[in-house]
Amino acid sequence: MGFVWSIGRLRNIEIRIDFSWFIVFILLSWTLATYYFPKYYSFSPWLSWIIGILASLLLFFSVLVHELGHCLVAQRQGKEVKSITLFILGGIAQIANESSSPYEEFSMAIAGPLTSFSLAIVFAILWCIADSLSRPIFALAKYLTMINVILGTFNLLPGYPMDGGRVLRAILWKKTGNIKKATKAASKVGQAIAFLLISFGVFQILTGLWLNGLWLIFIGWFLYNASLKSYQQTLLREILRDIRAKDLMDTNFITIFPDITLQQLFNGQALTGRHKAFIITEEKKILGIICLEDIKKIAPERWPYILVREIMIPRSDLVLTTPEENALKLLHRLSSRDNYPIPVIFSDRVVGTITRNDILKWAQISFKT
Ligand SMILES: [Zn+2]
Repeated sequence: MGFVWSIGRLRNIEIRIDFSWFIVFILLSWTLATYYFPKYYSFSPWLSWIIGILASLLLFFSVLVHELGHCLVAQRQGKEVKSITLFILGGIAQIANESSSPYEEFSMAIAGPLTSFSLAIVFAILWCIADSLSRPIFALAKYLTMINVILGTFNLLPGYPMDGGRVLRAILWKKTGNIKKATKAASKVGQAIAFLLISFGVFQILTGLWLNGLWLIFIGWFLYNASLKSYQQTLLREILRDIRAKDLMDTNFITIFPDITLQQLFNGQALTGRHKAFIITEEKKILGIICLEDIKKIAPERWPYILVREIMIPRSDLVLTTPEENALKLLHRLSSRDNYPIPVIFSDRVVGTITRNDILKWAQISFKT
């Protein structure tokens, strides 16, 4: 996505609009004002434009409320919701945590379409009330009832990662107990739906409806990529969840004393090349880590006068792990600054080290096989 505009926060969720949304907003307002409303109602051009723009804004509101439906359930499940972004094809909620059970996934997925159907009922009531009172409100409410029914129904198509696909995944997950298999099947359905949308789009272009056709091809292409990508993400997460620090750790680390000078360290160890960091221990307990890179930042003339203890990263600032922690959890705890070897601690002793790179490299290899 390109330029994104943050319009505020709601229940601690950042609401963002992608630049592509403005294109839809203008195109939709224009189509509604010059084609849709004039076709069914005899409003003045001015009124048509006002209703067209209002309808577009309320469509935006409907998509936002749909996403909020997902997000409120996610928040109630204790998940962290970062943002909702509106873009050319609707809304995307960025939820930090994956569902930990099929039930959680099911209720979070179904919340969106249920919200859309509830909104449709509200607009339908307004539509009935406005019938004898106001033609413009009648037109607006009727359009929004329809839009919310379409929004809810389209999202229920069973292709992952659409809401219906997530519902399907939750059901398969519950049945098989295997989230990987469930995701794979649901995303295959997603790809099949994408293929159908694209085929139908091509058919429409051949029959002369090239704008509708292009639109369908675009949606299909987007769905195809999304389902492929979200399946790969799930696969990666499961691969990482299956592996523990003890499986990937390097036990060939070097420990040094805190009171040697940088010069002594460099003469003794650093020149051998393989090790880029050293564990500093005192009575076998870890005090900190020193990285070759940090030593190199200091002028060599000063090395004889500086103790390792003085420039080490102290234990209190280190991320530590245990042999049993899984790679997914560990990776979540690491920030981009933690690029030293992470000490693996067992009964207060260092038993190995593991780097972010070790994890990523391993994931890459397992991903291909
Ligand atoms: Zn949804």
